[in-house]
Amino acid sequence: MRIEEYEGKPSLCCCAINRESSGILCQKTITIINLIMSRAEELVAKTRAAFESGRTKDIQWRIAQLKQLYKMVCDHESAFVEAEQKDLRKPPFETVMTEVAIIRSEIAHAINNLKDWTKPNHPSRTMLQAVASVYVKPEPYGVALIIGPWNYPTNPILNPLVAAIAAGNCAILKASEVAAHTADVIARLIPQYLDPECYPVYRGGVPETTELLKERFDFIFFTGNKTVGKIVMKAAAEHLTPVALELGGKSPVYIHKSSDPKIAAARISWGKWMNLGQTCVAPDYVLCDTEIKRDFIEAMKEVATKWYGENPQKSSDLTRLVNERQFNRLKGVLDQTPKEKIVFGGDTDAEDKYIAPTVIDECSLDDPAMADEIFGPILPVMAVNGKEDAVQTILKMEKPLALYVFSKDQQVVEYVLSNTSSGGVTVNDTILHMSNTNLPFGGVGPSGCGNYHGKFGFDTFSYQRGVYARSQNMEALFASRYPPYTEKNLKMNKYLVEEKPAGAGCILQ
Ligand code: NAD
Repeated sequence: MRIEEYEGKPSLCCCAINRESSGILCQKTITIINLIMSRAEELVAKTRAAFESGRTKDIQWRIAQLKQLYKMVCDHESAFVEAEQKDLRKPPFETVMTEVAIIRSEIAHAINNLKDWTKPNHPSRTMLQAVASVYVKPEPYGVALIIGPWNYPTNPILNPLVAAIAAGNCAILKASEVAAHTADVIARLIPQYLDPECYPVYRGGVPETTELLKERFDFIFFTGNKTVGKIVMKAAAEHLTPVALELGGKSPVYIHKSSDPKIAAARISWGKWMNLGQTCVAPDYVLCDTEIKRDFIEAMKEVATKWYGENPQKSSDLTRLVNERQFNRLKGVLDQTPKEKIVFGGDTDAEDKYIAPTVIDECSLDDPAMADEIFGPILPVMAVNGKEDAVQTILKMEKPLALYVFSKDQQVVEYVLSNTSSGGVTVNDTILHMSNTNLPFGGVGPSGCGNYHGKFGFDTFSYQRGVYARSQNMEALFASRYPPYTEKNLKMNKYLVEEKPAGAGCILQ
């Protein structure tokens, strides 16, 4: 096999390695592994050299790169739309609104605010530090690695890239091989618009990413599932590399009885059926107060029929599942669910990678639909008796990426928020908390660590370097800290360095 034949065909490599895994590796396989290894090693070394050239530290240079990225997204909006149609049959409306428009907005926000973000921050000082200049200087980490998923194959690659550029890093981009058409567009366009030495694109699947992760990075930003998140974190630990992990989880919705079931149904349907449920912050399951559950389910049916017609498979507004694997996984959930619990939807078509928007009623925590993140168009609904019951159920699950609460009673909203934890929250709607550039977006606990969007992304990709700078004057004033130690000098130093709590006198009484 020649290298040209191998490039861009990661599956060949994967087969070769698996076939030989129990025996002695043949020469051909060793050659392929060496090629992959040298490709990863060489790329990281070149990117590090680009970072060490110092050009990414220049603020104007960063702004110029961000403008180029903006131009790229504007010039080629249709390329992203077409690619995502091929990868997921995603409606153009959704690609524009959830990928392209959000990225453009993030780039514009970074361009408009970068000078402020990069200014050193001057914190308060103790009396001893009054003669010094004390500041926190955000600095780039160096060479970052950005790994993206297939469900939104553009945004979780380009959005962290905006933050990486803004913070002055170089970054290697690894888009998901599962959404291959979008990965092609990213690989083709990025070198045309950005400095290719600072922002190279690395192609490949699991074996290539495994090799890449052996290299030392200065920061890793990963978006994907929890299992791979652990692999990434372990690889990063080898080099003590800091990470941000944008993972998933089962994001709950609680509908309090004070809610309008029709409004709740429309807003939950929007967040759930978008991208056919393949959204990290999609409502995963619903806890609905018993009093309005029947009306809510009726309203869900009405909304689906109004939006997608009697046969949703014919609608051009529904995405498809990305591949056979995802189809089979979700079909398995439906097959294991008692038929009488499927109150609408449930139709499947393997050829078309289609599963209809489906609601499962009378669900319990032991049901297959509650075992893992659904990540598809299936919505389990459970009856609860009030906010306490809902919170108890939520607390039995891992901390989710998002949490949704519907209520006209503010006290109910506050009760749910103060007794639960989640990456983010939208009240009386779904998904919208991630649409505001000024809110941090990320998970907590098993749903991830670190956050981004706007200034939060800039901070995530920046190391906060503390600087204390003084002159060589006034040596006598500070000589009291040197040995030989005396009681008198200790008393004076305590006075000079210690901060006191407000009302210290009362505390010590
Ligand atoms: P994934 O973890 O399978 O893949 C993500 C990336 O990891 C891909 O680029 C892939 O090539 C790479 N990868 C896969 N297996 C690997 C391995 N063994 N070693 C090294 N690299 C590997 O994720 P996915 O299936 O594409 O995405 C779905 C998951 O991502 C869901 O859980 C979803 O909730 C989550 N997600 C989270 C966010 C967020 O912002 N928090 C956004 C989108 C998706």
